[in-house]
Amino acid sequence: MAIKKVEAVIPPNKPHFVGDGFRVHGFIPGKHPLSMKRMSPFLLLDYNAKINFPPSENPRGVGVHPHRGFETVTIAYKGKVAHHDSSGGGGVIREGDVQWMTAASGILHKEFHEEGYSKKGGDFQMVQLWVNLPAKDKMSEPKYQAIKNEEMTKLELENNDGTLEIIAGNYGNAKGTATTFTPINLFNAHLKKGSDISFSFAETDNTALLVIEGSIKVNNTDKAPTDHFVLFTNNGEDFTVQAVEDALVLVLSGQPIDEPIASYGPFVMNTDEEIMQAVKDFQSGKFGYLD
Ligand code: MN
Repeated sequence: MAIKKVEAVIPPNKPHFVGDGFRVHGFIPGKHPLSMKRMSPFLLLDYNAKINFPPSENPRGVGVHPHRGFETVTIAYKGKVAHHDSSGGGGVIREGDVQWMTAASGILHKEFHEEGYSKKGGDFQMVQLWVNLPAKDKMSEPKYQAIKNEEMTKLELENNDGTLEIIAGNYGNAKGTATTFTPINLFNAHLKKGSDISFSFAETDNTALLVIEGSIKVNNTDKAPTDHFVLFTNNGEDFTVQAVEDALVLVLSGQPIDEPIASYGPFVMNTDEEIMQAVKDFQSGKFGYLD
């Protein structure tokens, strides 16, 4: 099998706020080469690098907004987020948890720092990933997969090298917890200093790493420090990651969805007509109601 080479190691860009609760580096879509098309099925990756929020009586966050046509995946590393949606659903995403929300035909929701966390303040670190849906599934029923850390598939690596959390997809015979509409691998690799782990994904997959903690080398050559994004070429299948120090790495690899992308704010469809319909449906209350 051929080596999957690093195409680019990309530093975090200038952060911006989403609402007043998420201070994010927008990696996808970003400057060349991180377009929605290049990174398909990953449409967006917002990374709230670790920051310390001071205590607040009024939880920070982002108010009611819609989504249609894709899935939002929230991965909590530090801090806690509470969410509520127009179907009456809600919950808390704690450290180590993942919420996989299929917005599909449409949902209204809000995302705020959880009250207890907000009152105390403290470290906050999250990833929000938007995963595209194939055209045939864009108008399917919304649903949630609330994946608590203790329910997540975990693989202890040999030689005490660390732990692989398999959020989706598979690593060897170990199968991820989330179900997906298209083939996606999403892992948290907790690696001990000096460990060396190998991955293998389809040549045609769009594959990337985000270094959450510590620093790594890829294929024994390319260095990637904390908060950096590693993009792979679409040649070869196999690569290795070496932990230069104790590290936590988000590994993402997905089969591209080869369909047109029409994107407008919180709506991602295939055509402009479908976007106009989404705006109309939202304005006429078809996404439901949420305070
Ligand atoms: Mn949202």
